[in-house]
Amino acid sequence: MRFETDVLVVGAGVSGLAVADAVVRGRRRVTVLEARGRTGGRLLREGASLDLGATWFWGGEERTRAMVQRFGISTFAQYLEGDTMYEDHRGVQRLRGNLVDVPAVRFDGGAARLTDELAAVLPEGTVELGCVVEAVGRGEVDGDALVVTTADGRTWRADHVVLALPPALAMAAIRLAGDLPAELRRIATATPVWMGDTVKVVAVYDEPFWRSEGLAGAGVSRVGPLREIHDMSGADGRPAALFGFAPAPSVELDLGDRVREQLVRMFGPRAARPGELVVQNWNAEVWTVPPHPDAGAAVAASRDFTLFGHSVYQHPALHGRLHWASTETSRSHPGHIEGALEAAERAARAILT
Ligand SMILES: Cc1cc2nc3c(=O)[nH]c(=O)nc-3n(C[C@H](O)[C@H](O)[C@H](O)COP(=O)(O)OP(=O)(O)OC[C@H]3O[C@@H](n4cnc5c(N)ncnc54)[C@H](O)[C@@H]3O)c2cc1C
Repeated sequence: MRFETDVLVVGAGVSGLAVADAVVRGRRRVTVLEARGRTGGRLLREGASLDLGATWFWGGEERTRAMVQRFGISTFAQYLEGDTMYEDHRGVQRLRGNLVDVPAVRFDGGAARLTDELAAVLPEGTVELGCVVEAVGRGEVDGDALVVTTADGRTWRADHVVLALPPALAMAAIRLAGDLPAELRRIATATPVWMGDTVKVVAVYDEPFWRSEGLAGAGVSRVGPLREIHDMSGADGRPAALFGFAPAPSVELDLGDRVREQLVRMFGPRAARPGELVVQNWNAEVWTVPPHPDAGAAVAASRDFTLFGHSVYQHPALHGRLHWASTETSRSHPGHIEGALEAAERAARAILT
């Protein structure tokens, strides 16, 4: 089956949906193809509000703030008050004040509210879920237009294609037109996937017991498995939660037990029995990091964050028809939601003008 659209967006994360929103407002037809069975990409919520991907935005991130206001999403300040727990091989220490968190803003109902709301304002049928893009090439009879092929054998002819997924994943998983510049291929393949080597662990409790003990819920550990810990409770302290990041290689079968032991060492016996312990290994997400083991290793090994926002991403390729829009391609805030929105803005501007 063959379809036609003005703009085809690969990926329904925040960048892809923001491009689609801008293109619709510019009165052009747009289709978003999303491999997963959900929108949001690295914005992911468990239950009503637990963030398993992005958690915060920060002062000066005006695109994010504007979107929050547009959709009437309530926000609240990151909990900051109290002392920090620090752990190294010599043991655990309590350090005065919060040495880990900076003032930041949380999304009531989770960061995925952004992508829920963006998807909801797009015309019905714009986003196709469970639709894996395999190739972006040139059509033999279509002149310069691009042809997108999906794993289920469907094709779309589009004037513009937006790659709204991590560049290294696009290079590994999508066959891109043969005349794509070699320099662009090289840079995209080597660009790290932001947080692609990270495991996020969330421990949910009945109450934020650490607060009443004068602790901020903030921690740093040189022992692990969690290297950095933060309070991730809801606006009024409910649900009460701590979250931490662990490097992906530390994921083992007993990770849950090791995390519980660590939380007890750092926050005391009340941390022993979280009502829920959720482990989200982003390194195992084939729609976030390249699926091929060798390519995955290469990307995980690539720590060259200077490639973020590289000049090759700032102008469309293939005669102005192939655009980049993931957070990794942002100049101002790469890695952040704000960066994904900035990249989306750049891609939409190039398409609409
Ligand atoms: C654990 C964690 C914590 C974070 N914390 C923060 C934070 O606190 N604040 C902050 O600002 N940012 C944070 N980030 C980063 C933030 O989540 C990202 O910057 C942002 O979500 C990226 O959006 P994106 O649209 O660029 O990419 P993605 O969200 O990765 O979207 C890409 C989309 O493309 C889809 N896709 C992939 N391959 C294909 C294919 N072949 N065909 C079709 N679709 C495909 C994917 O399924 C996905 O939906 C965090 C990220 C993680 C993982």
